[in-house]
Amino acid sequence: MKRMIFATGNENKMVEIREILGDLPLEILSMKQAGIVADIVEDGKTFEENALIKAREVCKLAGEMVMADDSGLEIDYLNGEPGIYSARYMGEDTSYRIKNQNLIDRLQGVPDEQRTARFVCAIAAAFPDGREMVVRGTIEGRIGYEERGENGFGYDPIFYLPERGMSTAELSPKDKNSISHRGNALRKMKELLEKEAVL
Ligand code: IMP
Repeated sequence: MKRMIFATGNENKMVEIREILGDLPLEILSMKQAGIVADIVEDGKTFEENALIKAREVCKLAGEMVMADDSGLEIDYLNGEPGIYSARYMGEDTSYRIKNQNLIDRLQGVPDEQRTARFVCAIAAAFPDGREMVVRGTIEGRIGYEERGENGFGYDPIFYLPERGMSTAELSPKDKNSISHRGNALRKMKELLEKEAVL
């Protein structure tokens, strides 16, 4: 069976990735399992560029097929902020309680229809022969007026899904994966790999 390294240090992502890509003829390894240590500068201007930078660099180091992702929250009223800087917004070590409250404050007085936002996830694949692929998954929602829910992570408590009447932090992990930006991107990447018959 072919091997593929997913360039993330996040074990929660690995669980989701294995669940969605599990039926491909691939042994999926984390960076840790593959014994790869890399400190990559993500200086791209888009989610796609950053995912490609990570996949390409690790592929060079490992000499094996590599996938990487880059994700974040885009708020329309804030011209797409925090966007590709989502993890670094207000500082990497600042708690999400503080980041989320700050975003709620910046949208004070903004009516429902102008609170639109989306989570975006780009997933890139890089192959030792130089081939590259990249896909994007999104989920549309609105910024809430307060934090809600205990599941998920990051900006989930303020990302409200009007059609479900709850935030993504109130969804079960399984329900979130079935509609999330990362789930959608992973399913697109899976289709692409099957269509291009690269495995
Ligand atoms: P990265 O793709 O691991 O660099 O994550 C980017 C950042 O975007 C995370 O640290 C979160 O702040 C945010 N983010 C990405 N996906 C989600 C999600 O599913 N829920 C909440 N926040 C997210």
